[in-house]
Amino acid sequence: MSEPGGSVRILVTGGSGLVGRAIQEVVADGAGLPGEDWVFVSSKDADLTDAAQTRALFEKVRPTHVIHLAAMVGGLFRNIKYNLDFWIHNGPPHNSNFGYSYAKRMIDVQNRAYFQQHGCTFTAVIPTNVFGPHDNFNIEDGHVLPGLIHKVHLAKSSGSALTVWGTGKPRRQFIYSLDLARLFIWVLREYDEVEPIILSVGEEDEVSIQEAAEAVVEAMDFRGEVTFDTSKSDGQFKKTASNGKLRTYLPDFRFTPFKQAVKETCAWFTHNYEQARK
Ligand code: GDP
Repeated sequence: MSEPGGSVRILVTGGSGLVGRAIQEVVADGAGLPGEDWVFVSSKDADLTDAAQTRALFEKVRPTHVIHLAAMVGGLFRNIKYNLDFWIHNGPPHNSNFGYSYAKRMIDVQNRAYFQQHGCTFTAVIPTNVFGPHDNFNIEDGHVLPGLIHKVHLAKSSGSALTVWGTGKPRRQFIYSLDLARLFIWVLREYDEVEPIILSVGEEDEVSIQEAAEAVVEAMDFRGEVTFDTSKSDGQFKKTASNGKLRTYLPDFRFTPFKQAVKETCAWFTHNYEQARK
C-alpha cells in the first residue's frame, strides 16, 4: 500500500484485480492530476468483510473519494456453482446468476438510501463483460475471454482442439479493462448523479461467443480444431445494455477496437504466463 499525502486522496479497493490494475496503469500513464493521491489496496491490506479492519484502513488512509472494486467475482460457471456465496443482501434476474445480480442491485438501493438520509452522492457503475491484462485466467472460475485465452494456450502446447463451452451463439458486449479504467476516472471526477451509469461499448459492438473465440484464435495464431461443447450451459442469451447515457456525456470517447484489445490481452498472458492468475 502506498503512503497518503495530497489533498484529494482516492482509495481504490480491489486494487490488484483486473480493473484495479488497469486504473493503476492509466493513472501512471498520466491520467492522475497534480495534488491527487491514489492509494491502491488489496485483500492483503485489509479484510473488508471485517468492520474493525475496514475502519482501521479508513483511519489510516483518510480518503476523500473511494472507488470500491473489491468483490467476489467470477464467470458464468462460478456464478452457477456459488449462488449462495454471491448472495450477500436480502432482496428475479436470470436464474444462472441471481445471487451476484441481487447483490449488485442492492448497491443501487444502498446508494439511494445514503443520498436520501445523509445527502451522500455515492454512485454505482455498471460495466459489461470486462477483460484485459491481470484478469483471472482460471478456466473453471473465470470469464469467457480469459478462459478461452488460457484454453488456446494449452491447446497449442498439447496439440489438442479448443473446446468452446455452449453453442457459441450467446452475445456479449465486451469492454477492455483499460478503457473501463479511463471511464472510472471520468466518473470519479465528473459524474455527480446517484443514478447508476452503464459503462459499455455500443449495442452495435455486441459479439457472439463464437466471434470472441475466433478473435482469440486469430490473435494467438491457433491452427488447431475448434469444437463446441453444447452439454455446457450457454447462460443468459444476451444482456444487451445501452450506452446512450454515457454517450450523452462523452460522445467522443473512443473504445479500443475489440480485436486489438484481445490481441493485447493475449500478448500479456503469453508474456506473463508464470505470474498470471490461473
Ligand atoms: P457472463 O457474461 O457473465 O455470462 O459470463 P462469462 O464471461 O463466463 O461468459 C459466459 C458465456 O461464454 C456463456 O455463453 C458460456 O457458454 C460461454 N463460454 C464459452 N467458453 C467458455 C469458457 O471457456 N469459459 C466461460 N466462463 N464461458 C465460456
